[in-house]
Amino acid sequence: MGAGPAALCIASELIQQGLDVSALASHSPERPWPNTYGIWAEELESLGMASLLGHRWKNTISYFGRGAKAEESNCVAHDFDYGLFDQAAFQNALLERCLGLNWEIETAKDIRFVEKITEVICSSGNTYRARIVIDASGHRSPFINRPDKGSVAQQSAYGVVGKFSSPPVEKDQFVLMDFRPDHLTKNELKEPPSFLYAMDFGDDLFFVEETSLAYYPPVSWNTLKKRLLARMSHRGIEITEVEHEEHCLFPMNLPLPDRNQPLLGFGGSASMVHPASGYMVGALLRRAPELSRQLAKYLSIEPPLDSHALAQNGWKTLWSSDLIQRHRLYQFGLKRLMSFDESLLRSFFASFFKLPKEDWSRFLANTLPLPQLILVMLKLFIIAPLKVKLGMIGLTVL
Ligand SMILES: Cc1cc2nc3c(=O)[nH]c(=O)nc-3n(C[C@H](O)[C@H](O)[C@H](O)COP(=O)(O)OP(=O)(O)OC[C@H]3O[C@@H](n4cnc5c(N)ncnc54)[C@H](O)[C@@H]3O)c2cc1C
Repeated sequence: MGAGPAALCIASELIQQGLDVSALASHSPERPWPNTYGIWAEELESLGMASLLGHRWKNTISYFGRGAKAEESNCVAHDFDYGLFDQAAFQNALLERCLGLNWEIETAKDIRFVEKITEVICSSGNTYRARIVIDASGHRSPFINRPDKGSVAQQSAYGVVGKFSSPPVEKDQFVLMDFRPDHLTKNELKEPPSFLYAMDFGDDLFFVEETSLAYYPPVSWNTLKKRLLARMSHRGIEITEVEHEEHCLFPMNLPLPDRNQPLLGFGGSASMVHPASGYMVGALLRRAPELSRQLAKYLSIEPPLDSHALAQNGWKTLWSSDLIQRHRLYQFGLKRLMSFDESLLRSFFASFFKLPKEDWSRFLANTLPLPQLILVMLKLFIIAPLKVKLGMIGLTVL
C-alpha cells in the first residue's frame, strides 16, 4: 500500500524475489513525489546508486557560532559530499525494478484479517486479498497499531527555492546547519531553536530552508518563515523570486509499531525515520532487500503461514533487537536535545562534528552496530564541554 519511496523500495525488492505482488495506491506511482530527498553521497555510493544524485556538493559546511564575523561564526567544514536525488531518476529507477507489478489506483479504507489472509477494503468498494499486506502509506497510516507514548515531536521546516538579491550561500556550497542566532531578538532566543539548511543549485538559484530539528508542539511554518526572512534580511539579502515553497512536517519519534500485529509496515508507517536526523531514504534502500528475502523465505514455507505469522517474521527482520536498542538510544538523545536552548544546541553540534567523520556519518546513517553506537556516544560525552555533558544527563548549569 502506497506509492512513496517506501512503497517503491519494498515493492521493487519483492518483485526481484520473484514474488506475486500487487500494489495499491491513492494515485499513480508515476506522479512525481512532492518532496526532494537529500542524502550523504557515501550512503548512496555504498549502495552503488550515486548516479541517482541530481546535485552533489563537495563544499559542505555548518555554522555553530554566535555571529556572522569569521571569528564568531565557528564554521565547520564537513569534508564529506552531500547530495540531492534527481527525483524523477530515483522514482523511475525504482519503477523500472517494479516491472510486472500490478498497480491498483485505490485508497485503502479498512483492513481485515480473515482466516489466514488479509483483506483490504477500498473507498471504491473493491476488496483485495493477499497473504500479507505491507502498509507503506506513510507515518499517518491509521492501520498500523503503535503504543501511545504521549506527544510526538515533529520536524518542521519552511523553505524557498528561488533567486536572491545576493547569494545566501557561496557558489557550489551546501550548508547543513547554520545555527548562527544573531538575527534573533532576546525573546526569540528563548524560543525553540531552528537552523538554516541551504544550498546553491547553480544558475543563480538557491534553496534556503529554516528548520526546527524536532519539537512538540512543532514550530509553526509562520514562525519559521519569519525567522528565515529575518535571517536573510540581517545579512542584507532579499528573496527576489520564489520558484517553489516547501512546507515540511513529519514525526521524529513516532513510537515503534506493535510488532505482534498481522499487518506489516515499511517506511514512515513503520517509524523508520531516523529519530536524530529525520532522514529515512538511505534506510529504506538498505533495509528493503533483506526484508524481501526473508518474506520470500517465509512465504515458501509449507504448510503456508498465515498473515499474522508472516507479518510477525517481517517485523522481526525489520526491527531486529539491535535496531530497536539503537532506536531507543537515538530517541533518548533526541529527547535530551529538545530540552537544550539554542546556545547549548550549538555547543552540542559543534562537539558532535568534532567526532571522527566515520563516527558522525555512520551515527547519522544509523549504520553503527549497537556496541559501536554506544562507544561513539561515549566519545561524544567525553569530548563535549561540561555544560553539554550536564545537558546530556539531564542537568543544567545555573
Ligand atoms: C518535506 C519533507 C522533506 C523530507 N526530506 C527528506 C530528506 O531530504 N531525506 C530523507 O531521507 N528523508 C526526508 N524526509 C522524511 C521521509 O523520507 C519522507 O517523509 C518520506 O516521504 C516518507 O516516505 P513513505 O513512502 O513512508 O511515505 P510517503 O512519502 O508519505 O508516501 C505515502 C504513500 O502512500 C499513499 N497512501 C496514503 N494513504 C493511502 C491509503 N489509505 N491507500 C492507498 N495509498 C495511500 C500516498 O498517496 C503516498 O503515495 C522528508 C519528509 C518531508 C515531509
